[in-house]
Amino acid sequence: MLRFLGRGSAFTDEHNCAFFESGRDLVLLDCPMSAYVKLKRKDLSSYARIFVLVTHTHGDHISGIGMLIDYCYFVIKNQVTIVAPSKEVMEDLSYLLRRIEGCGDAWYSLIETADLHEPWFDTQIATVHTEELAGKCFGYSLKVEGESVVYTGDTGVLEPFEKYVTQGGYLYMEISSVQTPVHLYVEDIRPKVVDMVNAGVHVFLMHLDDEGKIETMMKGTGAQFAPLDEMSMEDNGKLLNDIFGITDSLYKDMCMNDRKDHALIFSYLTELGKTIVDADRASFWKWDKRKGVLWTMSATGVDKIVIPDSAGLVGKSLREKKTVITNDPYSDPDFNREVDLKTGYRTRSVLVLPVADINGNFIGALQLLNKNDPKGFDEVEDSKKLSLAALVCGIALESETFLEESHHDKLTGLKNRMGFYYDFGGKFKEYLLPQSGKTMSVFICDIDKFKRVNDTYGHNAGDDVLAFASHLVESLCSENDSVYRWGGEEFVMVMRDTDLEGAAKKAEEVRVKLMNSDIDADGTTIRCTMSFGCALFDPNKSIEENISVADGRLYIAKETGRNRVCKEDS
Ligand code: GH3
Ligand code: MG
Ligand code: MG
Repeated sequence: MLRFLGRGSAFTDEHNCAFFESGRDLVLLDCPMSAYVKLKRKDLSSYARIFVLVTHTHGDHISGIGMLIDYCYFVIKNQVTIVAPSKEVMEDLSYLLRRIEGCGDAWYSLIETADLHEPWFDTQIATVHTEELAGKCFGYSLKVEGESVVYTGDTGVLEPFEKYVTQGGYLYMEISSVQTPVHLYVEDIRPKVVDMVNAGVHVFLMHLDDEGKIETMMKGTGAQFAPLDEMSMEDNGKLLNDIFGITDSLYKDMCMNDRKDHALIFSYLTELGKTIVDADRASFWKWDKRKGVLWTMSATGVDKIVIPDSAGLVGKSLREKKTVITNDPYSDPDFNREVDLKTGYRTRSVLVLPVADINGNFIGALQLLNKNDPKGFDEVEDSKKLSLAALVCGIALESETFLEESHHDKLTGLKNRMGFYYDFGGKFKEYLLPQSGKTMSVFICDIDKFKRVNDTYGHNAGDDVLAFASHLVESLCSENDSVYRWGGEEFVMVMRDTDLEGAAKKAEEVRVKLMNSDIDADGTTIRCTMSFGCALFDPNKSIEENISVADGRLYIAKETGRNRVCKEDS
């Protein structure tokens, strides 16, 4: 029935003000300044007529009327009708609008309810409020969308309204958490509310000076809080929608994305941080404490940047383990102008929030630039707003690090078998589809008589040989090739867009290079060789079957003398 631009009391931010539409009429019940501000965002020009039914002349009910009249008259060229519930109130309003607000006579019309003949209007209802307003405080009985609607406005008593309240009708009544002679006290009024709800009245509460207490006290009565209009929640609603939009896209993108890495999460989280604090740019920096560098995992508006951790505000925030804010960066000795110089961007305000892993070790930082507010960032408020995004960044970064580590082999630095399968779920995925028409080949290689190296020169020497051989294989990888440590002294190379001949050629290259290399194995120079089995990847077979084909050929290479490449089954 009624929608509320505000449903609070004088001491809350949302002063009581309701409205309804009837055809092309907009009817407001009072118009405090807070309601006027919200109304201006609505398309008021779409209404043929605008009415304000005044309940009483306290500022938290009528302070926006003068502005509304001015705005409607000058901007949307409409003359607002102000309705006074009595002659006396009309005189007071006339004095106020003319002598104090200074509104011209032509800008509005001021009428008494006696002269209001609209289908949606029933009657004004005199009630009791402060002593100063004796005889000048009213509520209304209305017909909205064919239903009986009673609006109490501010009142110290419910009795005057009761005879207008009907079964199936709507009662919008004020209620206070404080016991005073001028408002309906929640504890006193509770039984009455229960009776009315039981009698089939829709009871809505307004004037909520303490929402929490009133909600608790009215639990189980069947009365509801008056519904706030979307317009009242517009700012909040937009932000919530933005946040939801980002989260939703992140989920969708993660499902669609083959890379399955964390880059997406960082880019969305930085976007989220930017939105929450209304900044122009955001970046997430990973800290490599050992190397003393910071690099952007994701930055909005710039390419990846690597900087030393000894300079700049991100470094400062991480070294000092605290949030760093400057709203005048060019006067801040810690601000690193280099990035601005490189990118041509002009930094006006900076907020850096250090990000920790679950053990509390700082591992990265969230940086926001240029808040859309001339005052810049607010340390307390903006840090709180960003706290969740920073926490999730920390968890994501840690999980990325774990993932990276679990896919790599410590000794050689190569990807391991887990990394191998991960890549098959990602970058090689389309090569697994027979219909893609893509070509891919693999080889598996194994160091010859490696056990002897261990037995003769010791395990450390063996390790050195392994590391050497793996780096050598890796050094011969082109952009389309990927190499993995398959097991002990076995490596697998996957070569995209390469046929069997190409794979055999690559294997031969590795074989010759290794054979001719002097290897420093724990102080002794030694040489070693490898044998290779190559296969053209057959997408109609499983990954394991394909590796088996290559492995069978590796076996043949071993059987037929070692230090050779085999690409056929016999
Ligand atoms: P073949 O030419 O037939 O391949 O002979 P091989 O001696 O290389 O083969 P075998 O499978 O008998 O021995 C492989 C050895 O590799 C046994 C194992 O101890 C060693 N090895 C596996 N992983 C590592 C490692 O990480 N470091 C060292 N030092 N040795 C390893
Ligand atoms: Mg071997
Ligand atoms: Mg082996």
